[in-house]
This record gives sequence, C-alpha cells and structure tokens, in this order.
Amino acid sequence: MPGSVADRQLLEPRTLADALRMLDQEGPLTPMAGCTDLYVSLNFGTLAATRFLNLWRLDELRSMAVRDGLLSIGALCTYTDVIRSRVVRARLPMLVAAAREIGGPQIQNRGTLGGNIANASPAGDTLPVLAAADAVIVVANSAGTRRIPFVEFYTGYRQTVLAANELIVAVEVPRVRGRQWFRKVGTRAAQAISKVVMAAVDDSGGDPARIAVGSVGPTVLRLPSTEAALAAGARIDEAQRMLLEEIAPIDDVRSTAEYRRRVAANLLASFWNSRP
Ligand SMILES: Cc1cc2nc3c(=O)[nH]c(=O)nc-3n(C[C@H](O)[C@H](O)[C@H](O)COP(=O)(O)OP(=O)(O)OC[C@H]3O[C@@H](n4cnc5c(N)ncnc54)[C@H](O)[C@@H]3O)c2cc1C
Repeated sequence: MPGSVADRQLLEPRTLADALRMLDQEGPLTPMAGCTDLYVSLNFGTLAATRFLNLWRLDELRSMAVRDGLLSIGALCTYTDVIRSRVVRARLPMLVAAAREIGGPQIQNRGTLGGNIANASPAGDTLPVLAAADAVIVVANSAGTRRIPFVEFYTGYRQTVLAANELIVAVEVPRVRGRQWFRKVGTRAAQAISKVVMAAVDDSGGDPARIAVGSVGPTVLRLPSTEAALAAGARIDEAQRMLLEEIAPIDDVRSTAEYRRRVAANLLASFWNSRP
C-alpha cells in the first residue's frame, strides 16, 4: 500500500550551513536528494520517516573539480552531471561507464552520487568504482567535516558510519594510474539492478591491480587477497579461487548465489585477460 505524503514534513534549507544546523537542532530528519530510492520506499509503504530535509537546492554540493590533485565530486551531482563532465570523463572514466548503465534517463537526471552511497545497497553501481579508486567520502555536520576512506564507510548490510547529524557532501578521488575497467551484469542493459557489478584498475600504472565487486556480499567488497595473488604472479584460475573465498553471494529475487559466483569469477578473468 503506497505511503501518504500528507502527514509528512519537509524542511527546505537554502544553504549547506542551514541544512547542517537543521539536522543538528531540528532532527531527526531524513535527507532527501533525488528521491529515486526514497520514493520507491514511499510507494511500497515502507518509508517510516516522517520528517525530511530537502537537499535539492544546495548547489554548493554540485561542483566537480580537481583540487590539490584530487578529483572532488559533490554529493548532489547526478548521473547525467557525471556523464557530461569533461573532468570526470578524463580522470575517472569507469564512473562515467557506471553512470551510463544506471536506470534510464529519468533516473540519471535525478539520482545522485551521494544518494547511491548513503543508500548503502550492496548493488549500488557506483560503489565498486569508488572502492577500486580508493575514494574518500567527505561528510559534514555543523561542527566541521571528516574524511572517511571508502572501504571504511560501510559496517554491514545497509549500515554506514554516517551519524544522524551528518551529510555526505562530496567524494574525493586521487589520480588513478592504470587502465580503468567496469562491468555490470543485470537482466538487461537499462532499468536493471546488478546481479554482479565489478570495477577494477589494472597494474599498468605501476601499482598492483585494485578490484571491487558488488551484489556478492552484504556490502560492496574490495578483494585484497585476490589482488595480492595477482600481484604475486598467480595464474588467473588461482586468483579466481581466491575471489570465491572472498565473496559471499546469496540467492535472492534477482539471481542465485551460484550464478553470482560464476559470473564474478568470469568477470575477474575478463578484466585480467583484457590487459593490453
Ligand atoms: C527505476 C529505478 C532504477 C534504478 N536503477 C539503478 C541502477 O541501475 N543502479 C543503481 O546503483 N541504483 C539504481 N537505482 C537506485 C537509485 O536511483 C540510486 O541509488 C540513486 O543514486 C539514489 O540517489 P537519490 O539522490 O535519488 O537518493 P534519495 O532517494 O534521495 O536518497 C537515498 C538515501 O540516501 C540518503 N541521502 C541522500 N543524499 C544524502 C546525502 N548527501 N547525505 C546523506 N544521506 C543522503 C537519503 O536519506 C536516503 O536514505 C534505481 C532506482 C529506480 C527507482
């Protein structure tokens, strides 16, 4: 049964400082960005929250720029913003590849990077990209900001270290050396949530390969043992065995654990064997 909006309250800050003050003093409030996830919960009747903080007007969270050598992407940047951004295309093409495969044009116009991260689904398509790129999540409250390495942001299934008075304000990505690679396997190319999604950076830049995978565990996973095996010169079948020990897929409405195991192993081989 769809939830009603009539009994819900919306706060409309015009600046980030206002938003952070409201979160601190007038909470508890649920941040609202593009609403593409929140509206689904409302429609399913599972959206318990009744008081919301609308972030949509906070243009301060829409910048994309390189600062001090780091690519900084504001939390409110939509997938369309990412696809159109020259600086993101140049520095992080695997994020553009992920953005192009998210939903359809409507979702790409409204869905935000910050929303994908905060929603904390293990199937979020940008998350393996951010994990493989060693991204840092910048979060703020009214007292200041803190920077959290992406791999420390999730503590369990749909659990994050974000406090109730904090917002994600940006993502910072150091320069990625080496070829970037992204693959999403879903029922079809558009409007499909991933059965398995993988992002990787190969060792052509001089650093060991970095590999992250989604939809095969309670959170998006980096694969440190698989990466170490490849760096030590393991054969691909040995690395695939290592990967299978690092992932923990389940059967659900979208796929089976067995299918996900096979596809994740195949994706690893596809990435590794496509190195120039
Ligand atoms: C038809 C459809 C197709 C979809 N396809 C895909 C897909 O292919 N791949 C994929 O990964 N996702 C997909 N999604 C899910 C969704 O579009 C993305 O997760 C999107 O990035 C969510 O962003 P949003 O701005 O809409 O978030 P919202 O719905 O506004 O918020 C989501 C959650 O994040 C919190 N939040 C939002 N912004 C912030 C912030 N700055 N700080 C703190 N908390 C915040 C909210 O409180 C809420 O809990 C799809 C959704 C739909 C409806």
